[in-house]
Amino acid sequence: MKSPSRKFRYEELTWPEVREVVLEQPVTVIPVGTIEQHGPHLPLITDACTATEMSRMAVERTAHALLMPTVSYAFNEHHLDFPGTIAIDTHPFINYVVGIGKSLSHHGFRKILIVNGHGSNVPFMDIAARTITNHTEAICALVSWWSLIPHNVLQGIRESEFPGGMAHGCELETSVMLQLRPDLVQMHKAEKDIHFEKSNFIWWDLQQPSPVTYQEWFSRYSKTGTVGDPTKASSEKGKRVVEAVVSRLAEFLDEFRLRTIYPRVDHH
Ligand SMILES: [Zn+2]
Repeated sequence: MKSPSRKFRYEELTWPEVREVVLEQPVTVIPVGTIEQHGPHLPLITDACTATEMSRMAVERTAHALLMPTVSYAFNEHHLDFPGTIAIDTHPFINYVVGIGKSLSHHGFRKILIVNGHGSNVPFMDIAARTITNHTEAICALVSWWSLIPHNVLQGIRESEFPGGMAHGCELETSVMLQLRPDLVQMHKAEKDIHFEKSNFIWWDLQQPSPVTYQEWFSRYSKTGTVGDPTKASSEKGKRVVEAVVSRLAEFLDEFRLRTIYPRVDHH
């Protein structure tokens, strides 16, 4: 259990406190989101909000983690046809996150977890996590929050069609936002939008990615900026998802903190 006085936000520590807290080897958690259009009913901050809030709740639940400030801007140039999207180029984005990891390692932290809230961040945050692991003394892992939802929970809430119903500003994301920030959700503007070409190889859905990886300009297959069926969203569904994700994330934080970092062996 966390002590009520424990500071869990990294940026609120002083430098002597950092020197002290590093002795306990907490997992440092970096939420990574994006600022981009999410259809007519959800705010630009959706992906940064979901990653940050679920990370915060998991960190608060364990005594062994620190929450880093959120990386809000990310890779999403394929959304630029819709107003509001702020796109960062691939290499600056990767290097920025690697810089956070290198600094944490420099100060003595050895476990870093990137908690991702935006599908298109995955390849770049995978590179960032590998680079941090290969080039520092720390190890860095990556998880996208939706991949922590147990199958039975997802099946239990899902009403939208597969594939397509849970992709972007969809049944899933809208439900989670209805739970986390209902004040920012305009349900009366939510509209079903699943218009991508039927294929056995290419689709968009958070429950299961298509066998072929492909991403094109969003405006080619979405009319509203949404892909999915947000009209099926509810705060009750969001509550179930958030609870499941936070509980598994907290469990992983405890496990990851104790994970052994074995010495490398040079076989030359
Ligand atoms: Zn999103």
